[in-house]
Amino acid sequence: MPLQKRKAELAICETAGGEEVVKKVRADMRGGAEAGGREEQAVEEPVGLSHAAADALSAATSATVEEPTMPQPTCLVWFKSDLRVRDNPALYAATTFEPGTANINSGMKQIRVGGSATTAAASASNLPVIALFLINVAEWALHDMAPLRADFILRNLECLKHELAQLHIPLIVRVVEPDDAANHIEDRHHPVAAPTAVLEVARRVHARHVFFNREFEVDETRRDKATQHMLEADGRTVHTFQDQCVMDPGSVRTKEGKVYKVYSMFRTTWITHVVRDRMWDKLTPDPRPNPKGACGAGSAVAAYLARWSEVPTQLAGDVLRVDPAQAILARTHFPAGEAEAHARLATFLADRSPMYTTHRDLVAQAGTSSLSPYLSSGILTTRQALHAAMRANNGRIEGGSAGLAKWISELVWREFYRHILVAFPHVCKHQPFKPEYKNVPWLNDPLAFDAWTRGRTGYPIVDAGMRQLNTLGWMHNRCRMITAMFLTKHLLHDWRRGEHYFMQHLIDGDFANNNGGWQWSASSGVDPQPYFRIFNPLLQSQKCDPDGTYIRHWVPELTHLHGKALHNPHAELPAAEFARLGYPTPIVDHKFARQRCLKAFKTALGKM
Ligand SMILES: Cc1cc2nc3c(=O)[nH]c(=O)nc-3n(C[C@H](O)[C@H](O)[C@H](O)COP(=O)(O)OP(=O)(O)OC[C@H]3O[C@@H](n4cnc5c(N)ncnc54)[C@H](O)[C@@H]3O)c2cc1C
Repeated sequence: MPLQKRKAELAICETAGGEEVVKKVRADMRGGAEAGGREEQAVEEPVGLSHAAADALSAATSATVEEPTMPQPTCLVWFKSDLRVRDNPALYAATTFEPGTANINSGMKQIRVGGSATTAAASASNLPVIALFLINVAEWALHDMAPLRADFILRNLECLKHELAQLHIPLIVRVVEPDDAANHIEDRHHPVAAPTAVLEVARRVHARHVFFNREFEVDETRRDKATQHMLEADGRTVHTFQDQCVMDPGSVRTKEGKVYKVYSMFRTTWITHVVRDRMWDKLTPDPRPNPKGACGAGSAVAAYLARWSEVPTQLAGDVLRVDPAQAILARTHFPAGEAEAHARLATFLADRSPMYTTHRDLVAQAGTSSLSPYLSSGILTTRQALHAAMRANNGRIEGGSAGLAKWISELVWREFYRHILVAFPHVCKHQPFKPEYKNVPWLNDPLAFDAWTRGRTGYPIVDAGMRQLNTLGWMHNRCRMITAMFLTKHLLHDWRRGEHYFMQHLIDGDFANNNGGWQWSASSGVDPQPYFRIFNPLLQSQKCDPDGTYIRHWVPELTHLHGKALHNPHAELPAAEFARLGYPTPIVDHKFARQRCLKAFKTALGKM
C-alpha cells in the first residue's frame, strides 16, 4: 500500500497523566489527532520522548553501534530545512564551538553579530565539524511532501555538499531505513526513526556535541525533542537554534501579553520590535572552515563518511518518484543553490520590486520574486530577504519604495503563520483555527474534487491555476487564493483535502504557509472577514489576467479566444462553438454556489 494512502499510523502521545503511550492516529495529520481546537494557549513545545523512553531506545541502538576507544571527538550539525551555509546559526555555532568555554546553547542572541563576518581560520581548539542530512522518505511521505520538492531538496543537497567542501566540512547523507526505529517500536514509520539514525551517526563519527536548527510543526518538534533526549541520554550535548523567523515565535504579543490573531496588528508590533532591536541587521556570521584534512582519508571516520557521502539523484521506491519531464521543467524554473537564491533576490529587488504593488496580482507577469521554494527549504532565510530588502530601501521597513515596503509585508505573512502555528498547535492537528468552523457540512463530492485537481471545472482561471500547479509544482499567489476559495466555497469541499493536494504538488510546500493560506480561503483561519468573503472567479479572472495571457498559456483549448469569451466561454460563445472547444461546462453556477455556501456556513455557525 503506498505510504500516502495509509490511513492509520502510530504515534507517541502524552496521556493526561503525562505518561507517553503509543496510540493510533490518522497519518495525514501533522502531529496527531485532537478532539477539538484550542483557541489560544501559552506557547509551549509539545512533548517528545521522555528520558526513560530515550534511554530505552538508546540502549537498543547501542547493541549495534560500538564506539572505538579514544577517538577524536567531533561536532555534528544536523541539517533539515536549512540547506545553506550562510546565516545558519547551528552551523556557525558548531564551527566556532570551543569545548569547555562559552555556553552557547541558550540561542543565537549570544553569538549573533551584525553584518557578515569574513571566513576565519578555525581555531586550534575547535573540534572538526561534520554535517548530516537524513533522507527520510517515510517521514516525507507522511507529511505529503511533493516529489518535485523532494527532487529540489536533493538538488540543493548537492550544492550544500559543494559549499561545505569549500570549508573542508564533509556531508553525510544518511538514508533512514525502517530498521532505524528500534525493534520494540511497532510502527516502522514513526518519527523515532530519525532520532535513532542521528544517534547512530553521532556514535559513528564520535560527535560529542550535536547542533541543529529547530522546526516548529508538532511532529517535527516531537522528533527534535526525541533526538535531543536520546543524544543527551547517550552523554552528548545538544545545541539547538531558532533560524526560521526574524522574531522568535511567541515574542510578538499584545500589551496584555496575548498572541496576535490578526495579521495587521501583528505586523505593526512586529515592525516595532524589528526596528527597535535591529533584528533585520542580525545576520549570522559565516561559518569557519575545518582544519584541512580533519576528516580526510587518514582519519578514523573516513570509511564511514565515504559510505554515506553520495547525494542520490532520485529516491528509491515509488512513493516520491518524480516525473522526469516535470523534473526538467522544475530544474529550469527553480535551479538549485544558495547562489541562485541570492541572485534571484538581488534581481527581484533591483528590477522588479518597484512594480510589485501594481504587478503582484497580475498572474501572467513575473511580478513576484518566486523565491518561495528557496525560503521553504531554507536555502534563503526570511532574515536575509528582509535584510536585503531594507538595505535596498535605505534602511526603511515602511515608507520609501512602495514596492519594497509591500514585499516586506508579505514576508511578515510568512512570519505570522509561523507564530500562529507555534501558539495554536491545533492547526497542525487537522483542526480549524477557529473551532466554530468545524461543523461546516462539506459536500465532498469526489467527482467535483477530481475535476478541480485536473483543471476541468469549466472556470478558465481556476483550471489555469490548477494546471500550472500540476505542471510546475508552483502557482501564483492570486491563483492559489482563487482555486482554494473555489474548492471550499463553490464546491463546498473540505479545505483539508485541498491543503493535502497542494502539499503533494508544491515545490515550495510549507506547512505553515499552506495551512494558513487554506484556512484563510476557507474562512476558518486568521482572516478577520467571516465566511461571506467569496471570490467571484469571473471577476477575479478579468482583474488578474486582463488580456488572458495566463489562461491561454495553461488552457490550450482556449488559446484562440479573446475578451470576455476567454474568461467565461460557456456564457459568451454560441452553444455549437463552445461544444467544439472540448472544454467542460462550468461545474457549478456561481450565483447558485454562492447562495449554497452562505447557507451551509450559516447553518454550521448557528446563524440560520
Ligand atoms: C491556499 C494557499 C496555499 C499556499 N501554500 C503555500 C506553501 O505551501 N508555501 C509557501 O511558501 N507559500 C504558500 N502560500 C503563500 C503564497 O501563495 C506563496 O508564498 C507565494 O505565492 C510565493 O510566491 P513568491 O515567492 O513569488 O512570493 P512573493 O510575492 O515574492 O513574496 C515573497 C515571500 O513572502 C512569503 N509570502 C508571500 N505571500 C505569502 C502569504 N500569503 N502567506 C505566507 N507567506 C507569503 C513567501 O515566503 C514568498 O516567497 C499559499 C497561499 C495560499 C492562498
